[in-house]
Amino acid sequence: MSSREERSEEAARQGPVPRTMGQQFGRRSWAEPWRIKMVEPLRVIDREARERALREAGYNTFLLRSDDVYIDLLTDSGTSAMSDRQWAGMMLGDEAYAGSRNFYSLEEAVRKHYGYRHVVPTHQGRGAEHLISTACIQPGQLVPGNMYFTTTRLHQELAGGRFVDVVIDEAHDPESLHPFKGDVDLEKLESLILREGADRIAYFSLAGTVNMSGGQPVSMANVKALRALCDRHGIRLLLDATRMFENAFFIQEREEGYANRSIAEILREFCGYTDGAWMSAKKDNLVNIGGWLAVDDDSLFEDLRNRVVIYEGLHTYGGLAGRDMEAIAVGIEEGIQDDQIRARIGQVRYLGDLLTRWEIPIVQPVGGHAIFLDARRFYPHLDQTLFPSQTLAAEIYLDSGIRSMERGIVSAGRDPETGDHRRPRLELTRLTIPRRVYTQAHMDVVAESVKAVYDARASTRGLRMVYEPKYLRFFQALFEPL
Ligand SMILES: *Cc1c(COP(=O)(O)O)cnc(C)c1O
Repeated sequence: MSSREERSEEAARQGPVPRTMGQQFGRRSWAEPWRIKMVEPLRVIDREARERALREAGYNTFLLRSDDVYIDLLTDSGTSAMSDRQWAGMMLGDEAYAGSRNFYSLEEAVRKHYGYRHVVPTHQGRGAEHLISTACIQPGQLVPGNMYFTTTRLHQELAGGRFVDVVIDEAHDPESLHPFKGDVDLEKLESLILREGADRIAYFSLAGTVNMSGGQPVSMANVKALRALCDRHGIRLLLDATRMFENAFFIQEREEGYANRSIAEILREFCGYTDGAWMSAKKDNLVNIGGWLAVDDDSLFEDLRNRVVIYEGLHTYGGLAGRDMEAIAVGIEEGIQDDQIRARIGQVRYLGDLLTRWEIPIVQPVGGHAIFLDARRFYPHLDQTLFPSQTLAAEIYLDSGIRSMERGIVSAGRDPETGDHRRPRLELTRLTIPRRVYTQAHMDVVAESVKAVYDARASTRGLRMVYEPKYLRFFQALFEPL
């Protein structure tokens, strides 16, 4: 008998291997699977200085200097703390122009955990979105998906496509407790295909989890059925894998038959139903910069590998340094561990539980990466054109120096055909938790600040937009208080 068989027999005798530290001890609570070895001091400026800073930033939290911010919950993008192993990996950077060894580490990690055959690095997620959109969309084609994401949709539009939202209706309802609010409405999709013809569909754009609806997951049953539907009509299925580790956690927690499967196993199965993926490694992959594309199809790979040279860099670095690719490879291995994701989502839920206890309106169920405050219910007296979510982000900053961001009418932008504001049903302010950065005590301080702003809600007036950039206006728009 080979030693491998002996090992698996031994494993069978011992029963399932504990995947998390909590299971090891037979207990339910989680704790972070790491300790802190280096710290970065924080400071908080006084109220008068915050008022000045916010005025100078045009009431847009994207335009604040981070030195003027106390707890920074603007985004979880590129804000993770890297581990000692990732920093050690940075020292192994092979900065050769071509064929860097770190590219091969990245390729191996993506193949192993996401399962796709071909990998193309990019400088970040939108670099990957640019390449895949231009490669796969013919002008005039439609791109159905489970709710839009800002940069994803813009690249699809710039490539001549039109995004069509076919997420289930529950995704647009902040109070619906549906366990998989990121699921695709297969009937909506099928009727779109029958109405427009499969030739008009560039590909299906699937995101796990769905950021704009509150970090809500897609179920395995849904992706499986989506795959079958796409196969029936010969449509390619591409995945925005940015937060798929978190999506896998929700499948493990909520979907029948997955409780005893690891996050890694669930991810492999899920990706197996798709033809390829793009990635912002700045999220789940625990790095400060980077992204990648991965596909199975040889000719699509050839096309992407050729395009990356124009916009990003040679296909073995794609706009990244060798050391960045090594950090991603290590980050994939660390990020996919059950303990890591449990603690990550556990911290988001901790904040969500505090706010829920105080009856502050947030999107339920709490998703994977952030708490989304429901600005419509926060400020029922403010019309959407007075930018309630933007106002709420400004008020939280004034109260405590905590930075959040708008995810409502400003982020939704204008309809390219009519030029009018798109008016999303969801008008949210996002408190995004960076990975491995803040402690539970920070979360207490955040919750108390949101409560103070909530208690003062009746006297809050809205904002007026005084400057509007053409693309992705939420990043640079300027406002004035009414
Ligand atoms: C962040 C993000 C992107 C874009 O990636 P960048 O690295 O910011 O360019 C795309 N899709 C989703 C779901 C994201 O969260």
